[in-house]
Amino acid sequence: MTGEDLMARSGARWCETHDRWECSAKKPDHHATAIRGLALCKNHAGRSLAVAKALGEANLAAWSTAAKPADAVALDPGTVVLDQLRVAVMRADLYGEMLRWQLEVEDEVGLVGTVYAAGRDGARVETGERARGLAQLEAAERDRVVRFAKTAHDMGIAERHVELEQERASLVTAAFRAALGVLELLPADRDLAVRTFLTSLGAGEVVAGEVDP
Ligand SMILES: [Zn+2]
Ligand SMILES: [Zn+2]
Repeated sequence: MTGEDLMARSGARWCETHDRWECSAKKPDHHATAIRGLALCKNHAGRSLAVAKALGEANLAAWSTAAKPADAVALDPGTVVLDQLRVAVMRADLYGEMLRWQLEVEDEVGLVGTVYAAGRDGARVETGERARGLAQLEAAERDRVVRFAKTAHDMGIAERHVELEQERASLVTAAFRAALGVLELLPADRDLAVRTFLTSLGAGEVVAGEVDP
């Protein structure tokens, strides 16, 4: 099933005039692009754009699994969102860990030209290129955690269940970090181990990582 076929399931209206999927809200002369995976545009989705987009992506992901061969497990949108939530928690935890390592290494080596600035809570913030990149990655994943949690809530998934999923994901990364901790790996090998772990989480690319301004 192609992306366009999947959109046919969203309930959006195909507009011949504009050659695109449009909002199906019952408004006279209303021509607005439907959010991918939803029947409505951003003005009629009834939720924040970020949550609406996440919901749409979850629908598309669920519908695409439903189209696979009979032996493949069909996912419902709620399952997809919780999967994404767990991956985001694990990524955020590990980017945070890599950031701490990076700061430690830079402390030991005493990098020339390293600039520090005062952080929000008065903590020292390393403004070096790599540390900044890791901090951004961690922040983006934390944003996704919040967004997926909101989306799950929107879908009617119980708050406690969403919390449990997050706790479970953190337990996995804590165990992984503990295992790495006893190995006394060189920084490069430690990074490689984390990158391998992050890559094999896989599912993370299903939902677009963009964060709305
Ligand atoms: Zn139109
Ligand atoms: Zn609309």
